[in-house]
Amino acid sequence: MPADPPGPGHSSGRPHVLILGGTTEARRLAQSLTGGGDSPYRVTTSLAGRVAAPVLPPGGTRIGGFGGPAGLAEWIAAHRVTHLVDATHPFAERMSFNAARAAALSGVPLLALRRPGWSPGPGDDWHVADSLAGAAALLPGLGSRVFLTTGRMGLHSFAHLTEPWFLVRSVDPPDGPVPPRLEVLLARGPFALDDERELLARHRVDLLVTKDSGGSATAPKLTAAREAGIPVLVVSRPPVPQGVAAAESVDAAVRWLGGAGVPAQDDRVR
Ligand code: NAP
Repeated sequence: MPADPPGPGHSSGRPHVLILGGTTEARRLAQSLTGGGDSPYRVTTSLAGRVAAPVLPPGGTRIGGFGGPAGLAEWIAAHRVTHLVDATHPFAERMSFNAARAAALSGVPLLALRRPGWSPGPGDDWHVADSLAGAAALLPGLGSRVFLTTGRMGLHSFAHLTEPWFLVRSVDPPDGPVPPRLEVLLARGPFALDDERELLARHRVDLLVTKDSGGSATAPKLTAAREAGIPVLVVSRPPVPQGVAAAESVDAAVRWLGGAGVPAQDDRVR
């Protein structure tokens, strides 16, 4: 496991950007900030450690929880972090609130890098739930051969559903309670449209369940479902902390970091 980057005694004098990662955007931001050799930034990406063999971004990395907002604030001070970017997944709710609290405690500017959510288009048959438990409650009325793409961590929410058959796709195997009729497909995105079409047809899927993750890497399943006339059960996003500057793209985050000043709270950076 990569060690924590050097502490304050080794600081280079460059602004130190701590990226809370675990997403494609976090990796792209680290690439963008460290690219070209002479980077004006020192960059550290933090990962939770959920994936056994993560794709590591360039720059420094550290892995594992900080011990809540106070622990994150301590890490920020100890490593002279100058800018904090919350580029965690839109469903990593706790970490986003921890980031907001830690930024307030330590006085460093915080940007939330959050890709836009998906919206239904013509021909889509979407059903929206506000949580995984809510999706599990709606599910039996919508389908019996289910492609469940909400990630392995929340599978316990569906474990009591004994009738439907589930195809679960995840990077690592599930390790908690799971529904009894289950096939696991280990795979890491991005996924191509042709492959998604073939997967739905081969497994005779009649319902797709997804979080509103947004982004292009996993969007082809939505197109494949639309083409096949399959309903989609979408789990809507959890709340985000208020008063945090937000960007919807890596380019906007780079601009924020390079800007003359830090945008006022609530500014939307696009
Ligand atoms: P979460 O519920 O918001 O966070 C739970 C705890 O995990 C946090 O309190 C924190 O521990 C630790 N943690 C989360 N992200 C971290 C990070 N980037 N670096 C260090 N510690 C982190 O998060 P989650 O939903 O379990 O997601 C975990 C990670 O997987 C995130 O980094 C996220 O970007 C990624 N991910 C999540 C999803 C999803 O659907 N939730 C999907 C794809 C990727 P401490 O309080 O001890 O600091």
